[in-house]
Amino acid sequence: MSVSPGPSLAVIGAGVAGCALVARLVELGWKGPISLWETGRGPGGRASTRRSRLDRGLRIDHGAPLFNFRPGPLATPRALQGLIDGGWVEPWNGRIAGLDATGEVLAPPHDPLVEGTLYRGRGGMDRLCEGLLHQAGDAVVSHFGQLVRHLRAVPQGPWELVAADGEPLVQADWLVLASTLLAHPRARLTLGWDDVPLAQAAGTLADPRLEHALVAIASLRAEARSNLLLVAEGEAARLLQEMPFRLLLLDAAARQRWGLERIAVQPLEDGRCAVVAHSTSIFAEEHLDAYGSDSAIARQLGRPAAAEREEAVITALTAALHQALHPRIPYALLARCRRQLMRWGAAFPRGPGLPAALSLCPASHIGFCGDYLAGPGFGRVQGAWSSAEALAERLVAAAAAG
Ligand SMILES: Cc1cc2nc3c(=O)[nH]c(=O)nc-3n(C[C@H](O)[C@H](O)[C@H](O)COP(=O)(O)OP(=O)(O)OC[C@H]3O[C@@H](n4cnc5c(N)ncnc54)[C@H](O)[C@@H]3O)c2cc1C
Repeated sequence: MSVSPGPSLAVIGAGVAGCALVARLVELGWKGPISLWETGRGPGGRASTRRSRLDRGLRIDHGAPLFNFRPGPLATPRALQGLIDGGWVEPWNGRIAGLDATGEVLAPPHDPLVEGTLYRGRGGMDRLCEGLLHQAGDAVVSHFGQLVRHLRAVPQGPWELVAADGEPLVQADWLVLASTLLAHPRARLTLGWDDVPLAQAAGTLADPRLEHALVAIASLRAEARSNLLLVAEGEAARLLQEMPFRLLLLDAAARQRWGLERIAVQPLEDGRCAVVAHSTSIFAEEHLDAYGSDSAIARQLGRPAAAEREEAVITALTAALHQALHPRIPYALLARCRRQLMRWGAAFPRGPGLPAALSLCPASHIGFCGDYLAGPGFGRVQGAWSSAEALAERLVAAAAAG
């Protein structure tokens, strides 16, 4: 009979938090089996990269285009230097400019997303999470393209993860939610679920700390973004690459005027140029019913996006992009580019977030990490990463205590 070397762990979500968690756990010597579950096709979550099997040169960082470490109480993540040395991550040296409501390019406005030291995944933002999983090595078994739909828990027993069709996926002594999806009522509205999976499972556990965490998570709100993804070739690519910035931050009046917040210019290796026009949260709220036909939500709902609505939002965002960049590129050139809509229903959590004290519920053997944890890195890659490293330390200590 084989004896497990230590408690098993299942982690749901392979964004920055889930990947950083498993990397740090392996480094700390977690001995039991670790499985990582992710509904997306690969790791990254909101820090992922859109790629295409049919178009090898295509690469669009459609979520976070970069990440930063702001000066302050949070230490720089332990794994960072290894990722730089391994060629997974590099400093971000692109020019950042600001834009006012008259269309003048000037010094960038204050923005917590670009304060401090800036980095990006080398060859795409998804390389950050790939690098973290590489650091974790064979000790972690990743399952991509697998939505965890239900959770089952028995007091003193293992957690069970269950797929949408009712098929059990795995049993594990400890569970970590590196995303709020299974613990937040929003999936009732967005995905038509009739339950909150963790709340359902928690009913059998009678753990006051877990009940507290569930109430706190349910109170979290998030901001949406409706982003235009554009791939330019030829003359359009040349004009975009000649823009005197790689990231353009719109000031408050410019955001109000055009409904855009940031414009990220991402030159591709084959001479084309990708652009992501990030909408404001207000624009996104007004267009929530339109989601990209290639988005995760379209796949999860199992129904195509309404093509006319999507087209209308793409046209509105293209016009806004053109006006913001006027007179640097003609509308006709932008309109000829390949364009897609990427709607992030929950792009940025709103503060204050889940108190760090509730990140671990030892009696129920469950932990939480992600950018939704309260603290100085809240709502950013830095927060997702540091919450995961902090949880790893607590998990190891709790598992050792039994
Ligand atoms: C458009 C945009 C721009 C941004 N810009 C910046 C920026 O410039 N700088 C910055 O620092 N941050 C930025 N952010 C925020 C940053 O991306 C996030 O803070 C960070 O990536 C969050 O990581 P996470 O691991 O906490 O969550 P996520 O990345 O959301 O990861 C959670 C993962 O869990 C998976 N998942 C959830 N439920 C299940 C389930 N039941 N079964 C299986 N899988 C599941 C999801 O598919 C997802 O991959 C941006 C975000 C967006 C959307």
